[in-house]
Amino acid sequence: MSGADATNARETATARGARLRLVSDLLAETTRFFHEEGFVQLLPVMLGRSTDPLGPDPGSSILRTTELDYLGQRFYLMNSMILHKQIAARDVGRIWILSPNVRLERAERGSSGRHLFEFTQADFEIPGAKAAEVRALVERFYLGVDRTVRTHPAFAALGVEPPRFRPPWPVVTTHELADRFGTAWEEPASKAYEQPFWAICHRREFYDREDPSEPGHFLNYDLIYPEGYGEALSGAEREWDAERIRARIQRDGIAPEAFRAYLESAHDLVPSAGAGFGIERLARFVSRASHVGDVQLFRRVPGEPIPL
Ligand code: ASP
Ligand code: MG
Repeated sequence: MSGADATNARETATARGARLRLVSDLLAETTRFFHEEGFVQLLPVMLGRSTDPLGPDPGSSILRTTELDYLGQRFYLMNSMILHKQIAARDVGRIWILSPNVRLERAERGSSGRHLFEFTQADFEIPGAKAAEVRALVERFYLGVDRTVRTHPAFAALGVEPPRFRPPWPVVTTHELADRFGTAWEEPASKAYEQPFWAICHRREFYDREDPSEPGHFLNYDLIYPEGYGEALSGAEREWDAERIRARIQRDGIAPEAFRAYLESAHDLVPSAGAGFGIERLARFVSRASHVGDVQLFRRVPGEPIPL
């Protein structure tokens, strides 16, 4: 190895170590926050008889849901625990989970800087909550992140300044965003903002609630990071009425067998709202990494061979 290569390798190892320490401390902050806000932490499930269909959603681009057969049963690997979260909110109350998700993204997504085919999201659900309450909770969370990163030694090692979080953040409808930035608004809109913003009213999966007083409007929200970093979080008030859920599964033309187990459990759901945010995307944004895979020790980038 030449002297320059050795220096580069050392710098890469130092940056990686700094980012991994940052991920660890962001996890500690996330755990502290949800605990203090009265949430019960559940352990994740990775296999289920039903999982998030991840569609229809203009932001989703998976090739397929991963299935496996085991002792005569068909299971899915979790695209997300959203369906389990509704049951958990009904049975337990305010819950959160550090949830490993597998999403088999198309290879092209490898160059977006923000897609992984295996990642961890902090996923939470609150019985009886409305959208505005969830957005306020998330904004409080980012104040804790702001405190964590302010004094974190990783930034000196990385030679970057962490961003400041100054909520409350603007709430913009996807209709306004499409008018201003075109239908593929996520990236240009993200580049146009200097603070995160909320994008509301997405037409997407059956479990997000349609506004009963305004059909065609959806009670969901994404948090978008600024400076081109894109989506941070997705969430919604949920559809809880079993008949409406059935009708919407039919509307979406998705295979009803894949949701039979969910529908069997979903007869007496309670109104709830929640969201999930990617831990790796959070660490990427605060550490200004060019790719979300840079904060993983074992990279899971679509189209890249995995190291281990
Ligand atoms: N976890 C998200 C939610 O709460 C869904 C997702 O994983 O995309 O809506
Ligand atoms: Mg999303």
